[in-house]
Parts: sequence; C-alpha cells; structure tokens
Amino acid sequence: MYEEILFTQLNDFIFCPASIYFHLLFGDMNRMLYQSQSQLRGTDAHKTIDAHSYSRQKNILTGISVYCEEFGLVGKIDLYDTAKKQLVERKRTVKTIYDGYVFQVYAQCFAMREMGYDVEKIVIHSMTDNRNYVIPLPEEDVKMMEKFKKTIHDIHTFTLEAFEQSNIEKCKNCIYEPACDRGIK
Ligand code: SF4
Repeated sequence: MYEEILFTQLNDFIFCPASIYFHLLFGDMNRMLYQSQSQLRGTDAHKTIDAHSYSRQKNILTGISVYCEEFGLVGKIDLYDTAKKQLVERKRTVKTIYDGYVFQVYAQCFAMREMGYDVEKIVIHSMTDNRNYVIPLPEEDVKMMEKFKKTIHDIHTFTLEAFEQSNIEKCKNCIYEPACDRGIK
C-alpha cells in the first residue's frame, strides 16, 4: 500500500525528485526561511484575491481539501466555479505551462469528480499579466495522461539514496541547495 501523494509533490518531483524530501523535512514551519521572496508573493497572492473577490460569490469554492482515491492523491483545489463547472489554478506569473502544472490540475480534476462535481474546463491563470491558459481535460490528452500516471509510479518507486541530480542549473535555482547533498557542488 502506497502513501498518498500531495498535489504539490507532482510539480516538485518534476523539478527534482530530491526536493520532495526537503519539502517534507522543512515543511511549512520553515517555509519563511527557505522560500524566496517571489515564491512567497505567489503564495500570498491567492489569499488576497480570495478575501476580496470571492468571499460573497456562492458559486465559487476556494481552497477546499480534496482526495483522489483512484490515484492516491491529496491536496487542495485553488478555485472551482460550480456554475461554469470550471477549475482554475492561479499562479503569480506563468511564462510556460510545465507538465507539473498540468499534473496538479489533473489531480484537482480527478478529486473533484470523485466528490461528484463536474469538471468541464480547466484553466491556469497567470495573475500578474491576467492571462488564462486553457488546459485540455485529462481524457482529451492521452499522452499527458500517460505522463501523469508514469510520474505517480516514479514517485512511488523513487529512492533518494540512488539519485544524483545531473542538471546544475536546477540546483542553482533550488531553495534547498544549502542543505542538499544530492546535487552538483
Ligand atoms: S539542490 Fe539540486 S539535487 Fe538538491 S533538491 Fe535542489 S535541485 Fe534537487
């Protein structure tokens, strides 16, 4: 029996499998120490918009915790519009739609469907430039769905001891680099 995977770990794993361990190790308590200012702004941006724009809209669900039994995934949705049957994941600035972003919204989509909500549209929203990126539904993108399943399998079978990061650029941009012995020094 595998442990549940957090939605955020799907994206972390794509960036670097070792980063999952450090994320768990340092957790939210030390987030302020390890997260860069731009990452923190991205996190806090959600809260600000939730408080001001969505608090009175009955058709909007934000930040609810969900679980996907089929794939053993757990996390929170960002925003779901019950009228439009639309999932939205807001990020501070999106320049590229990385696979990890897509996997996170897939996880939200599957969890919401298991809870009985229809999801007919998925959007990743870039907040600073107000751009929307429509993500094909999982059943509309066979290749991405295969990658999604493979990533879940890879997470379950990954061992930190056998891993060495080969891309020094990732380590240069990694908040865990000072504490990590899996990277290139
Ligand atoms: S420092 Fe390098 S190897 Fe370590 S978690 Fe970051 S990217 Fe991965």
